[in-house]
Amino acid sequence: MLAFPQPRKSESTSHPLDDASAELPVVDLPENSDTMEALLRLSYPRPTFSTFWTFDCAAELLEAAHKYELAYAEATLKQAIAPFVRDQPIQVYAFAARFRMTDLMEATAHACLALPFFWAYIPELENISAGAYHRLLDYRERCKVALGTISHTQWSVKDHRWTWRVCTTCVKHTSSRHVATGACGKCGQATWFSSFWNDVMARLKERPSVVTLLDQTLYDVPSLKKALDCATCRMVMYEQIRKFLALLADEAAKKISEVRPCPTPCGPKLTLLPGALGNQVTRYG
Ligand SMILES: [Zn+2]
Ligand SMILES: [Zn+2]
Ligand SMILES: [Zn+2]
Repeated sequence: MLAFPQPRKSESTSHPLDDASAELPVVDLPENSDTMEALLRLSYPRPTFSTFWTFDCAAELLEAAHKYELAYAEATLKQAIAPFVRDQPIQVYAFAARFRMTDLMEATAHACLALPFFWAYIPELENISAGAYHRLLDYRERCKVALGTISHTQWSVKDHRWTWRVCTTCVKHTSSRHVATGACGKCGQATWFSSFWNDVMARLKERPSVVTLLDQTLYDVPSLKKALDCATCRMVMYEQIRKFLALLADEAAKKISEVRPCPTPCGPKLTLLPGALGNQVTRYG
């Protein structure tokens, strides 16, 4: 605020409102009146929740709210742009990075996980630093690694009787007891399930997000259709896979939440040490 030209102090000692012709103090702002009015309308005469047709409409207001530190308006606007965070995360990330809105960078980096890489070019990318773009990709890579450690054997066969582990047609059991108890977890799994698991992991690599596991097209992959060839698996497969993917989605969400976002400049800090003969020695700390 202080960087803007401030009103000149009136030389008259009378109150400006005493005389209708007296000039009121004026501060010149670079924003146009529509922007400023829309911004003020967010909290005056009463708090309002706005909806925006395009992100650009909201971005202009958000930029001004952030600049003038209008915390209430900024928080309201960040709620209003939630649909754009989900649908145009890269565009919103580029905007957030430009103004170093850390919370918005984290939210959009998270939303970007649901997009298949390599995403299309958008002009907003010209406005962000290579560092900010790198952090977006770095976060994605670390989420990919975290999801790569996910396992499908952590849910008790005894509780769930997963058909891909207990089926006597699809799995060769080493003991007749396994068949009797229906809780074998030791004899491996149906071939169709192994292929399905590979498909799931390949998709998670492409889109390291919970969204991937909730994608309905996952039920159409050919590996899953193979299960329909088995009279036993056919009966329960879709129901069990649905339950299994829900558990897996919870696990994936947990793994991603443990991945540290990296929204601010990171990497080795440069430390300058005075070296011999007046040279500067650069050390990575
Ligand atoms: Zn702000
Ligand atoms: Zn067995
Ligand atoms: Zn089977």
